[in-house]
Amino acid sequence: MKFQQQLALKAIPSLSKYYLDYKLLKSTLYDTQSQIEGLEDKSQAPALIEANFKNRLFAELDKVNGFYTSRYDGYRKTYEDLKGRKKCKKLLNDIEILSDFGNVNFTACHKIVKKATKVLEKDMRSELLPKIEACAFTKSELRDKFMNEVFMLWHDNTLAVQDTLWSHRPSCRRVESIEDEVTSDIKTYSNLNLDSFFPGDVSRFWVVLAENALGLSLKVPVMVAKGAFPGPIVGITAALHGNEINGIPIIHRLFKDLDPNQLHGTVVAVPVANVPGFLTSQRGYNDGTDLNRVMPGKPNGTSPQVYAYNLMDRIVKHFEYLIDLHTASRGRINSLYVRANMLDSRTRRMAKLQNPQIIVHNTSPDGSLRGAAMERNIPAITLEIGDPSRFQKHFVDNALLGVTNILSHLHMIPAEAELPEYDPVVCTHSYWIFSRSGGILTVLPDVNTWVRKGEPIAHIHSVFGDLIETYYAPDDGVIVGKHVDPVCQSGNRILHLGIVEGQYLQHTDDGHL
Ligand SMILES: [Zn+2]
Repeated sequence: MKFQQQLALKAIPSLSKYYLDYKLLKSTLYDTQSQIEGLEDKSQAPALIEANFKNRLFAELDKVNGFYTSRYDGYRKTYEDLKGRKKCKKLLNDIEILSDFGNVNFTACHKIVKKATKVLEKDMRSELLPKIEACAFTKSELRDKFMNEVFMLWHDNTLAVQDTLWSHRPSCRRVESIEDEVTSDIKTYSNLNLDSFFPGDVSRFWVVLAENALGLSLKVPVMVAKGAFPGPIVGITAALHGNEINGIPIIHRLFKDLDPNQLHGTVVAVPVANVPGFLTSQRGYNDGTDLNRVMPGKPNGTSPQVYAYNLMDRIVKHFEYLIDLHTASRGRINSLYVRANMLDSRTRRMAKLQNPQIIVHNTSPDGSLRGAAMERNIPAITLEIGDPSRFQKHFVDNALLGVTNILSHLHMIPAEAELPEYDPVVCTHSYWIFSRSGGILTVLPDVNTWVRKGEPIAHIHSVFGDLIETYYAPDDGVIVGKHVDPVCQSGNRILHLGIVEGQYLQHTDDGHL
């Protein structure tokens, strides 16, 4: 979409005449360009630029800044007179609207100066940018400070408010979320366009991936922390299996701690990647399909394939790194472990920085999100965080530390990476052991413990209580995960054994589900 159209969409309708007239400035630029081309004496070019483009730009700046300043001064005066909390709330909303106005115009100014440099083949940034940045509407820190003052006044006028995830970032959104519908101001986009967000901002919105039978949008929640400084784009996805939810609080807590004004680069998080599965607390898509087996999907495929395709195409393809957060499947429990290709130096480093209990070398299986990302040359790891359908604080704490380690290592946040006191167990490969009989299953060892070859690992009893079969460890290894549901039919999984011996294989398949 052209910037001019984007600008029109972003403009608040009631204020539209006060925005920088980007279209007019652009046509002035091209007029100036053709006049310069027609000049016999090129030394007159600067005077032409001055008379046409610059004067027009300065007039526009005066218009934007004049409007902004009068509103801002008015709001300051309102603030001085304020008492009741209702008025504070209205003022907070007004300032946010003005803040949006200031930000949009700031972007438009930068864009037009960049365009002028290109069209007129004359770099005017050093001359024009200081003039723009001297305008009151570009002073976002001042606005934030003011907003904070109003927020504190609002807070003082309000009864003790229960702490929320967003309590550290006073903003209008928080005020709304306490009293009104939480999603009332969350926008919906048809795609993820990272250029459309302002540096130093955190944004929350929906991205449409498909439509249901009512013709309503199926949308996923997305959070973006766009740093004030350039840097890598790290994507974090959770609940691609709808009942694997330990990743969700990791994202919430990470965003609570991230300061976008200090951040180098961008963090994009999808707290629930499989929305239909999440709504029914199930692993698969609404028809039961495992989305982590149909990646990268197909634009003209089945419903889950289309959903998977759009997840990749509209969101994941913008990432430069991916951390995909999972847990064990229903009826099983896991250690805190990472699945990563240890033959790839980038993913090996990400896996180690994650500080898990166990790392399993695994060349991504076909159809997984990790595999599809790696195919696009996006280094990706899968983090398996404990058990399904629950939040486990100790795992969440450790996994969050690992995620921040990766951000530190990429120089995105100032903190130093915290390395573990002891190294994780690194498995060259792993495999599942399956039951031959049906009956009542008891798996003996705990996760993250060692077994020796020949040691008993599981019993199956008949429904009458007789011992039918005992299983023995085929190799020395570490228990990566295990089945805990005693109801067992032949072919059920018993435990996931990690093997430390040997070399990393070019292709591994552990039958993981
Ligand atoms: Zn999973």
